[in-house]
Formats: sequence, structure tokens, C-alpha cells
Amino acid sequence: MFDLRLDDITEWIRCKCFSSVAIQLPEGLKIRATEIADHIFSNTNVPVIILGDPCYGACDLYVNYKGIADGLVHFGHSPIPSISDDKNILFVEALADLDIRKGIRNIADALPKKVGLLATVQYINTLKDAKDVLEDLGKKVLIGKGDGRLKYDGQVLGCNCSAAESVADGVDCFLYIGEGDFHPLAAAFGVGKEIKVFNPITNELRLVDDVRDRILRKRFAAIEKAKDARSFLVIVCTKAGQRRDRVADELIKNINSTGRKAYKTVMEEITPDSLLAYRVDAYVNTACPRLAMDDSVRYGKPILTPPEAEVAIGLREWDDYEFDAIRD
Ligand code: SF4
Repeated sequence: MFDLRLDDITEWIRCKCFSSVAIQLPEGLKIRATEIADHIFSNTNVPVIILGDPCYGACDLYVNYKGIADGLVHFGHSPIPSISDDKNILFVEALADLDIRKGIRNIADALPKKVGLLATVQYINTLKDAKDVLEDLGKKVLIGKGDGRLKYDGQVLGCNCSAAESVADGVDCFLYIGEGDFHPLAAAFGVGKEIKVFNPITNELRLVDDVRDRILRKRFAAIEKAKDARSFLVIVCTKAGQRRDRVADELIKNINSTGRKAYKTVMEEITPDSLLAYRVDAYVNTACPRLAMDDSVRYGKPILTPPEAEVAIGLREWDDYEFDAIRD
């Protein structure tokens, strides 16, 4: 169902005259890694190196591929335009090949008059059909334009809902097309509108309000706990699309100004084990914001996003809680 464009890839490798190529896949596609490597090698005779480290987004783009291969094929994500325009990197977005028109027609009555459309990149090509169907049924439909972190109109990342923000004032709710909670939750945290999720595989329509509220209650509890912290470890990630030194440095200044201590650490993979040794009371993660929001239970101490840390040290009110979007 997801188009891996294997023939386009082999054509690209041949045109580039590479002597080797690396492939980078998200966890869900790694099961196809050997099949992809076999296809490339048998059609080009070019050796393939499979990058084995975890890959959660285009933010994980292996920009140092030149140390191991002439080119890189990155699967499952769209490029983050502000990170790299390297012509020897090919993004294969694995777009879904399916017709959602009937499913959208069936759920249209459950939508208000003015609707914003959103999708994760795999379903971005379905937005036009969804818009046509809904407009035929008399709805006003808006698809927003995001910042430099988003390649497509209407796209949402787990850390960026700027496309939704750009049209939020003109719609009554957003319809997100895709699977899972991860991406629609970013919009649910980031814009003050109801998010309805349409699963194009099962044709189900559902809300994410309950999940959002449950996570926000946990965030409130983590912030309350961190209010007693006297020392913070402020984490900066070296991954191409997650590095935010300026945010970290500003926060360290702010923490220190309240009489607490802040230490800066730089690392590539942020895991509970990689933080275990540090004798601090709480962590602040300036990398992927979803690590603190969705995975905090795995960490033995409060782990906060930068805006949450501001609440914990008294520089921001809980009522001004803000989703820690990564913007470009
Ligand atoms: S920073 Fe997190 S949410 Fe954003 S693209 Fe990377 S993995 Fe996804």
C-alpha cells in the first residue's frame, strides 16, 4: 500500500554513478531493509549499506553519510527543507496509494461547516480528494501552509503544527487523515481547536481529546514535582533536526537567574540509561518534545520541555502552557 518507489531509486543511483549507497529507514520499515538492499544491488550492482541506528523522523537524517557511501536514500519521511538540500540524498516518502473519497463522504455529516485538513506525509496526497469531496458537500475547507520545517501544505509533524496554526482562525475543527495518535496530538496540543482523526484504512472517525487531556494531566504533575528541583540537566541533541543550542542557553540563563543550577549536556541518543549517572533533580529536553510528553514514564526524574521548565521555575503560568513546537 505504501509506495517505496524502488525503480525510481535504482534509476537515481544509476544516474548519479554512485559506487555505494546508504539506506536509512524508520523502525516500521526496517523489516523491508534487506528486500530493498537486494533490489538495489541486483538492479545497479552498487553495494548498499543499511544504517542500523534508530530513525524516528527526518530530524534523524544521517547527514554524515559521506563517510560510508556516495549517496543516501532516506525512507518514510519528507525532507525538512531547512536542514539540508543535499542533492545526493533522496527522500522516499512512502506515500499511501488508496482512494479515501467514499470514506470521507461517509463521515462528512460529523464535520462542522468549516474544516481544516491535516495529514502525516504518508497520506498527504489524499488531502486534495478529501477537500474536493467536502467542498462538493458544501463545506468550507482550508489547507494551511507551514513554516520551513514542513515540505507540504497541510502536513503535520509530531513537533510542528504550523500548517494548522496558519488557518486555525478560519475553521471550526481540523480533520486529520492518518493512523495513530502521535501526529494528531501535536495539532491537539498546538492549536486550540477540536481535532477529528479519520483513519483511512479502517474508515473510522475519532477524537484525541481524551488522550490529550490525559497527557496534559501528567505534564502538570511532572511540572509540580520539578518545582522543588534545585538542579537541572539541560539536554541538547546533536541530531540535524533536533539541535537547539539557543533554546538551551537561554533556559540555562533563566534557571540560574532563579538561584537554581543548570548544566548543559550534548548527546545524540537520549535514553533513560544515558541520563542515569547525572546527580540532578530534573531534566529539561530541548530535543524532540515528544520524548518528554509521551515517554516521561520511562525516566526516573521529571523530564520537561523548555516551556514546562519555565512553569516549574516560576517564569510562566500553567495557564500559559505552550506546546514545545520546533520551528524553522
Ligand atoms: S523532533 Fe520528534 S516529532 Fe519532530 S520530526 Fe523528529 S521525531 Fe518527529
